[in-house]
Amino acid sequence: MRLELVKLGPLAISPLGFGTLSISPLQSSLVADQGAELLCYAWDKGINFWDTAEIYENYPILRSAIRRLPNLPVIASKTYAYTADAAAASVEKARRDLDIDSLGIMLLHEQTALTLPGHKEALDWLANARGKGVIGAVGLSTHSVACVLAAAQYPEIDVIHPLYNMAGVGIHDGSPEDMAAAIAVAKAKGKGIYAMKVLGGGTLYRRAQEAIKHVLKQPWFDSAVIGMSTTAEIDYNVALFQGHAPSTDILNQVQGRHRYLHRADWCEGCGKCVQACGQGALVLEGGKVQVRRELCVLCGYCSRQCELMCLKIV
Ligand code: SF4
Ligand code: SF4
Repeated sequence: MRLELVKLGPLAISPLGFGTLSISPLQSSLVADQGAELLCYAWDKGINFWDTAEIYENYPILRSAIRRLPNLPVIASKTYAYTADAAAASVEKARRDLDIDSLGIMLLHEQTALTLPGHKEALDWLANARGKGVIGAVGLSTHSVACVLAAAQYPEIDVIHPLYNMAGVGIHDGSPEDMAAAIAVAKAKGKGIYAMKVLGGGTLYRRAQEAIKHVLKQPWFDSAVIGMSTTAEIDYNVALFQGHAPSTDILNQVQGRHRYLHRADWCEGCGKCVQACGQGALVLEGGKVQVRRELCVLCGYCSRQCELMCLKIV
């Protein structure tokens, strides 16, 4: 049975979205064809919503999948643009590299309440492009409670993509309850909401069922995106989103998958994570943290220290 679509403003999206960082060159060694096959497999299960970003460098993988599908998926991408020109360049890049006429959603990437006013020119350009049908909806992604509250007040913003998980991993300025209260305010203002980092950047993988069920119980999410890198993970997540228990075979495949701690390129070498690792598995070298995988026990304590969400269990 396929997932049933839900409304996100003018868009019809699946309640489970494909977080495509997991199939990007930044986080995966999958070749374009393998990534595209996974997106098509997910499409057959009803997943028509893909979340990407300009910095994920995975537009070629998405384009390859688009060419195999009967209809266009709803694609959300993200830009760091401040100016109108930069916003226009980001949207044009997405349309050109994905070979599409209209992008589902364009988000201002990784915003805070302090950075958002500085992106107003880009936001205005995006809102104008939405009016011309070049984009379906406009919004922002954030790890911050204060930013969700700020975004709720902007009429130009249709969609908010906040970080939310039951443990609060990665929330910059509050608890899961604080974030929930802010999201409720934004929802009451009519914003579409889709959650990120439901599994806490992979750190909740041992409690994945509990973490997903927790998010599904919250009343204000239209959708939630989860990174997936195997067909078993897709089947597992689809089953949970449909209210079923995953089969034993799928459960074994997901739980038995080899995992490791991945450090993203945007690490700034602050060293906060190094202090958190009792295993001595993190060292600073060349201005970035390096992971000694042979010592890492995948506890995820280090991830919680990294405000930039550089450390993920994948
Ligand atoms: S906390 Fe994050 S930014 Fe700082 S060194 Fe660790 S991974 Fe890099
Ligand atoms: S996941 Fe745990 S063991 Fe591995 S590097 Fe992070 S803190 Fe250390």
